[in-house]
Amino acid sequence: MSEKVIIIGAGLSGSLLAIYLAKRGIEADVYEARSDMRKAEVAAGRSINLALSDRGIAALREVGMDEYMLREAVPMRGRMIHATDGQTKLLPYSGRKGEYINSISRGGLNVALINEAEKHAGVRFYFNEKCVDFDCKSGEAIFQSGKTVKGDTLIATDGAGSAVRSAMLRGGVPRFDFAQTRLEHGYKELHIPPGANGEFQMEKNALHIWARGAFMMIALPNFDGSFTCTLFLAHAGENSFEQILSGNYISRGFTPTHADQNLENADRNLEKTTRNFDKNPRRSATESLLAFFQTNFPDAIRLMPSLTEDFFANPIGNLGTVKCFPWNVGGKSLLLGDSAHAVVPFYGQGMNASFEDCRILNQLIEQRGTDWEKVFDEFTISRKPNTDAIADMAEENFYEMRDAVADPVFQRKRELETRLEQTFPDYFSKYSMVTFREDLPYSIARRKGNAQDELLMEICAKVENVSEIDLTEVLEKTRSL
Ligand SMILES: Cc1cc2nc3c(=O)[nH]c(=O)nc-3n(C[C@H](O)[C@H](O)[C@H](O)COP(=O)(O)OP(=O)(O)OC[C@H]3O[C@@H](n4cnc5c(N)ncnc54)[C@H](O)[C@@H]3O)c2cc1C
Repeated sequence: MSEKVIIIGAGLSGSLLAIYLAKRGIEADVYEARSDMRKAEVAAGRSINLALSDRGIAALREVGMDEYMLREAVPMRGRMIHATDGQTKLLPYSGRKGEYINSISRGGLNVALINEAEKHAGVRFYFNEKCVDFDCKSGEAIFQSGKTVKGDTLIATDGAGSAVRSAMLRGGVPRFDFAQTRLEHGYKELHIPPGANGEFQMEKNALHIWARGAFMMIALPNFDGSFTCTLFLAHAGENSFEQILSGNYISRGFTPTHADQNLENADRNLEKTTRNFDKNPRRSATESLLAFFQTNFPDAIRLMPSLTEDFFANPIGNLGTVKCFPWNVGGKSLLLGDSAHAVVPFYGQGMNASFEDCRILNQLIEQRGTDWEKVFDEFTISRKPNTDAIADMAEENFYEMRDAVADPVFQRKRELETRLEQTFPDYFSKYSMVTFREDLPYSIARRKGNAQDELLMEICAKVENVSEIDLTEVLEKTRSL
């Protein structure tokens, strides 16, 4: 009789995992809290697109879905930096030609994975089934509907707020380590539509960044010519969501008449959106928002006719890191993906790391069979240092994107890294090691990458122009790190 695995969560990693298991002849029953996304509208505001890179692609390749998914993706070859005066500069992600990241639709990818999983006889999806508890002794999952289920084992891919992890924390696992850190910044998704003829209104093949020190906005291209922007702002204080929403952002030289279309749209929707802002006249919040954008993102606001509607309609998301240990209850259950290690999105690696989880778990099943306790123990021990490393790098990269990207020394360092990669095939920047080296564990990429970064920043601080630098000498120095 074949093994049966219960999977909690039909998100990105749960659906991919079901395919991996089915390919080994292991049955998978997947329970998902939300309704079937193929039939329902996806809630707005939750990272509509994602950066897919080599670690994620490696896993998709193993289940035969890489080419299909990449056909639906927009390559992003570098970061396009937008200065406040509207000047732009492209910093390539790598000096090598084939190394770029891909903007892909979260919904499209998830639906494709569910469809692919369902083609296998042993996979069944149960939607509108929210897991509310997990009995760490019996291995039974308990659902809001009153249903209880048990398989040969259970894998929790129920995301950053995992119900199974909560049961482990509530005492199901003695001495369970758990740490959650919240960033003082939240995020909101906004939109740049395609131009009148369906064209991209900014460079298509780039990840756009408006780095402004204490806050920033990014934009990723979508297949239909639009961009999804994500605004990262502190929840409270100077230049914050609270400051804008309370109508307290005032900018010198700004008058609402600049705000044209947006203010008209806001007025039209006044009735609909005032409800959330009873205490503060909606109009002053709109003026604050427009003043904030005119001051900080003047080139972007021109391309955002639905800014006010999107800003007031879309939720503010929280950002945080989750670390815990152990990830398994013997052979009864395992946490995988964000449920085990949620990271902030600044390295574009959360999904990629979760897909890598699936690939490595599959390798261990290949080696150890379905001795679940052995497989889960080994998985946890080998994966944990690496997911800790990407969690730390993702937080560090927030500061890099927010501040350093606009710093001339940092820009010279990126140029130097690009030249090194163009000249020496075996040189990899930290970004390349994380993003384009599926063969290199995250922990090694972090250790080597940080040492390299320090050295290159030091070198670039001493010169005005990168052409003054002897590349061979730098390469030699990086080899000894
Ligand atoms: C703003 C933002 C941008 C991001 N950008 C990137 C990026 O560019 N590149 C990248 O690699 N990663 C990115 N990420 C991270 C990425 O979204 C996650 O790492 C990835 O979604 C993790 O997949 P998962 O399957 O573990 O969890 P999720 O995708 O969160 O899936 C969890 C699933 O479980 C379901 N569920 C939850 N609770 C229950 C329950 N109790 N019972 C049953 N089902 C349940 C949920 O409905 C969901 O379907 C980003 C994240 C954010 C927030």
